[in-house]
Amino acid sequence: MHIRDIFEQDSTTFSFEFFPPRTDAGWETLFTRISDFEALGPSFVSVTYGAGGATRQQTHDMVVRLHRDSKLDPVPHLTCVCHSRDEIEQILQRYAEAEISNILALHGDPPSDRPDYDRSKDDFRYAIDLVKTIRAFNERGAHPDPRGFGIGVAGFPEGHPETPQRLREMDYLKAKVEAGADYVCTQMFFDNHEFYDWRERCELVGISTPLIAGIMPITSVKNMQRMAELAAGTRFPARLLKGIYHRQDDPAAVLQFGVLWATEQCRDLLDSGVRGIHLYTLNRSDATMQIYKTLGAKDSASLR
Ligand SMILES: Cc1cc2nc3c(=O)[nH]c(=O)nc-3n(C[C@H](O)[C@H](O)[C@H](O)COP(=O)(O)OP(=O)(O)OC[C@H]3O[C@@H](n4cnc5c(N)ncnc54)[C@H](O)[C@@H]3O)c2cc1C
Repeated sequence: MHIRDIFEQDSTTFSFEFFPPRTDAGWETLFTRISDFEALGPSFVSVTYGAGGATRQQTHDMVVRLHRDSKLDPVPHLTCVCHSRDEIEQILQRYAEAEISNILALHGDPPSDRPDYDRSKDDFRYAIDLVKTIRAFNERGAHPDPRGFGIGVAGFPEGHPETPQRLREMDYLKAKVEAGADYVCTQMFFDNHEFYDWRERCELVGISTPLIAGIMPITSVKNMQRMAELAAGTRFPARLLKGIYHRQDDPAAVLQFGVLWATEQCRDLLDSGVRGIHLYTLNRSDATMQIYKTLGAKDSASLR
C-alpha cells in the first residue's frame, strides 16, 4: 500500500526492520518467524540494503518473497553509494514490476571492504539525488500506482557525524523532504528527549511530513557494541549502559533489561503522540513480541 494511504489508515504506524540473512539457514529461521510478525499486524516492514553486490540482490529477493508469500507489506531500503544512475533505474523498474509500493531512499554506508573507495566518482552525491531520481521515475508514470513509489528518507535526531553544524543539518533534511519524501524514519535513539527536541526542530524549519521514531531493543552486549559501530551519531545514556553492563554475565537479564528500556521508550512516545514507531528487530521476533506483551497489546491495532 502506498505510504500515504498507510498514514491515512493508521493514526500511528508500527513497522519492523529486517536484514537479508547471510545463510540459507538464516533465511529459513527468519521465514519460520514471519507468522509471529504477521500476528502483530505492522503497518509495513522494511528490508535493509548492504554495500556488497550479493547482499544487494538478497534485499530484492527478500522483498519480493515477503510481498508474495506473507501478509507483510515490505519497503526496500535503497542506497545510492556505489551505484550508477542506470543501475538505480533498473532496480526501480524491477520493484515497480513487482508492485512494490514504497522505497526508503538513503545515501548508504560506505563499503567496509573498500576503504579507499572514491565517492566523488558516484553518480549520486547525497540521498536527495536518489529522492529526485525516484520522483522523476514516478513522474514518468513507470509505476502501476499513478503516484509512483512512496518515498521515505532517514533522519538523525542526535546528528550525523558528517554534518556537525547542527543548523545546516536541518536545512539538508528539509531539502530532502521537499525533493519528494513522504516520511522520515529516524536512526535509533535511546533517550526520547533527543527525538522530541529534533521533532520540534523539524517543525521550526517547516518539515511537516510524518516522523517515524526508530527504536532498537538491545538484546545482548555484542549486539549493542555492533550497533554502536553502525548507528552513526547514536548516544548510549549512562543509565542504559549501567543496566546492561551490570547484567553482562547473565544474557537473559541483559535481554530483559534491553526490552524493558525499549518498551518504556515506546510507551512514552505513544503518550506524546508519535506518528510512527519503527522497531529494529534484527530478524528476531522475541524482543518485538515481548514489547507488545509488556505494553498489554496483542497486535498493532490494540496499541493505537
Ligand atoms: C532509518 C535508517 C535506515 C538505514 N538503512 C540503511 C541501509 O539499509 N543500508 C545502508 O547502507 N545504510 C543505511 N542507513 C545508514 C545511512 O545510509 C547512513 O547513515 C548514511 O551515512 C546517511 O544516510 P542519509 O540517507 O541520511 O544520507 P544523506 O541525506 O545523503 O546525508 C549524508 C550526510 O550528508 C549531509 N548532507 C546532505 N545533503 C548535503 C549537502 N547538500 N551538502 C553537504 N552535506 C549534505 C547530511 O547532513 C549527512 O551528514 C540507514 C539509516 C537510517 C536512519
